Amino acid sequence: VRTPMIIGNWKMNLDHVQAGQWLLEYAGSNEGWVNRMEASNTMVNRTEIGVLPSFTSLLAIRDMARKTRMTSELYFGAQNVSELDAGAYTGDISAQMLAALDCRYVLVGHSEQRRYHPEDDDTIDQKVRVVLDAGMTPIICIGETKLGRDNGIGIDYALNQLVAAVRLLSAADMCKVIVAYEPVWSIGTGATPEPPVIESALADIRDFINATFGADVAEKVRILYGGSVKPDNASAIIRRYGIDGFLVGGASLDPRQFAKICHRV
Ligand code: 13P
Repeated sequence: VRTPMIIGNWKMNLDHVQAGQWLLEYAGSNEGWVNRMEASNTMVNRTEIGVLPSFTSLLAIRDMARKTRMTSELYFGAQNVSELDAGAYTGDISAQMLAALDCRYVLVGHSEQRRYHPEDDDTIDQKVRVVLDAGMTPIICIGETKLGRDNGIGIDYALNQLVAAVRLLSAADMCKVIVAYEPVWSIGTGATPEPPVIESALADIRDFINATFGADVAEKVRILYGGSVKPDNASAIIRRYGIDGFLVGGASLDPRQFAKICHRV
């Protein structure tokens, strides 16, 4: 059984002061909910919830999570990492540095990184490797552009990205990976594919994992949907088969909206 998860990707928003305020507000708006869940025995699989602040806000989030005793309610991670270990790479951040900050996740291959930085399949597979080697969980982002969708190569494009991203992994490694399907045309636009289309895309991704790594692995890997997820469309999407959760951009910047999405899963 896969634990559902909701991850907020803050992108280049919220400095370390704002990040601390976000966490306090989130903790406040969530208090009743967490208590209710603990009181009822029906919630066998608690949803795993995390945020991905910018590098400069990671330390604030870690310290604030400890202070408010939220460390097991709210996990966190980074939005990117260098594929290299250490050395003369000005401006880069290593997996070891992120692990030392207690990051649980690292986003790899987000479409905005692929677009605005020379990030290609060769560095993405290395990044997945260094994140796993440092004991963290890579969240691999894949997804087609609008052009790809219009040309009818949507899911194949995304699957090719996944093939490249996981080519250095054993089956045991693959079990630890999270895949996020984010159609580029849906990010920040308010447009999402119809829920059955999302279901079918995620099923194709699971089929690929099954064919490449075996049924046991395919059963374990969590596959998320991302792209314009909001409180009012979250329930309709999560209800579909095989959708393990969400990667939320814009709506995660407001702690109340984010908490609302979490409550709907
Ligand atoms: P939006 O939720 O703002 O569309 O962003 C999605 C995303 O890119 C998450 O990584």
